[in-house]
Amino acid sequence: MGVPVIACDCPVCTSGKSVNQRMRPSALIHYDSKIILIDCGPDFRWQALHFHIKHIDGVILTHAHNDHTAGFDELRLFYFRQKAPIPCLLSKVTEEDLQKRFYYIFQRKGPYEQFIPKFDFRYMEGKEGNLDFLGLPLTFMTYEQGGMQVNGLRFGDLAYLTDIRHYDPAIFSHLHGLETLVISALRFTPSPLHFDVDEAVEFARRCGAKETWLTHVSHDLDHDQTNAYLPANIRVAYDGLQLGFKVS
Ligand SMILES: [Zn+2]
Ligand SMILES: [Zn+2]
Repeated sequence: MGVPVIACDCPVCTSGKSVNQRMRPSALIHYDSKIILIDCGPDFRWQALHFHIKHIDGVILTHAHNDHTAGFDELRLFYFRQKAPIPCLLSKVTEEDLQKRFYYIFQRKGPYEQFIPKFDFRYMEGKEGNLDFLGLPLTFMTYEQGGMQVNGLRFGDLAYLTDIRHYDPAIFSHLHGLETLVISALRFTPSPLHFDVDEAVEFARRCGAKETWLTHVSHDLDHDQTNAYLPANIRVAYDGLQLGFKVS
């Protein structure tokens, strides 16, 4: 929902602390002169303005839920500026859902077609695999959230797993030797759609990642109080956090 939550007067929403102001989860990868966006939610316009994003070489969508795709149409600015279809990596299942949410992007017809953003769709086929997206080698895996299929991503020694709820334990075979894990954790109390904090900590422990960052954090979690509760190598992520990764 983003933090502050609309109309909420809770201590986190009203704390005024910058680390408690959370736009919807997303990430921007800089790799080998390429700039690749992961997810494009309802806050994308403000994220692009705030973080001075002037160019996007490609987009990866983890799944089609609104908080990860509602800003998809805003990518039209980059299509207009760059004058080329934007490569977009996603699963077939995510594409099917995206076709319903943004039907006009897929039905490009009529006199106003030039105003519709154009994408070059590429696919994560099957449940897991390795592929190269714009020169960036990655491993993708699949898990579930509320009946929706979601893709997790690994780039070298960093994995980005958001919106994970149900998973096959075989997923850990893709998560050996991580330096950095980014994983979603909503709040302290259990949720049918997300890991709670303790579940995320347990998952991170099983991965053995050297450091873990919690993303997709709700207004139930105060940044400082949650960090005080967490083990030293697991921290609450915040908007603008920068992490390095190495692709061997
Ligand atoms: Zn609140
Ligand atoms: Zn989400």
